[in-house]
Amino acid sequence: MKITFYGVRGSIPAPGYNTAKYGGNTSCVYIELENGQDLILDAGTGIRLLGEKLKLTDCPVNILLSHPHWDHIQGYPFFAPIYQQGRPIRVFTTLINEQEQLFSLFDQMDGASFPVVANELPSNATCLFDNIKAIFPEDSVRVKRKELNHPGRGSAYRIEEDGACCAYVTDNELMPPNETATSYDEWVEFCKGVDVLIHDAQYVEADMPHKHGWGHSLVSQVRQFAVDAEVRTLVMFHHDPDRSDSQIDFIQQDNQQFFRGKRAPSMSVCAAEGMQIQVTPRQLAGEAVIEVF
Ligand SMILES: [Zn+2]
Ligand SMILES: [Zn+2]
Repeated sequence: MKITFYGVRGSIPAPGYNTAKYGGNTSCVYIELENGQDLILDAGTGIRLLGEKLKLTDCPVNILLSHPHWDHIQGYPFFAPIYQQGRPIRVFTTLINEQEQLFSLFDQMDGASFPVVANELPSNATCLFDNIKAIFPEDSVRVKRKELNHPGRGSAYRIEEDGACCAYVTDNELMPPNETATSYDEWVEFCKGVDVLIHDAQYVEADMPHKHGWGHSLVSQVRQFAVDAEVRTLVMFHHDPDRSDSQIDFIQQDNQQFFRGKRAPSMSVCAAEGMQIQVTPRQLAGEAVIEVF
């Protein structure tokens, strides 16, 4: 599978001269599978640029939503394929309040907040509640979900295809102060040994205790988690809008220091717009081969 990052920022777009290196667009990750199908994780503002690429194709668009917070849906009205006649748009979500989640995606296009009304779009959008088999009927692709520790809740996804495996876990607080939807040990089990873990790492110690309980993890927690879950590649994601390029560079340097001498992960990166990760499945390469470029 090939993973491409189109939006890596949390909370609100943060364009500007001191965020240009890692990028200011909000959450959107594109996964191209070996079987020719693809998946879009979240519809933050990063999805706009992805839409420019996908409008040149005619394959069905598959969107997996983590949750309906603004920074994960606000690119959808600017996603070119939704304006293409008959284009299949399949939105997958699976949550307790799934209706609410989808309403948020479409209702932002209500004629008032946005001039185009969602139900007048020429594309053919369908919602697949808890039915990922509708997208991937064959067994070679498996998608599992886990409930996020986040206000309003949401879903993390683990995507496996023929021995290549990626987990997408944003927005998630590994150690929330209140009741947990998923415990730390359950997260370790869910992410155990994945080739690529994309995890929320929005906060640093200086943000605490004020933001404890806001539903995001500390960089230091995510580092330890990557060790405990023995992931192969850690991708820190959902950067705080106030985090500058030089601060993220510093986190990246600290990562190298922290992971030195540890068995896992063998690689760690801070997500940046345009970054790509190629995972070559085990069947083809013995051990899955991971390349970041
Ligand atoms: Zn978010
Ligand atoms: Zn959120």
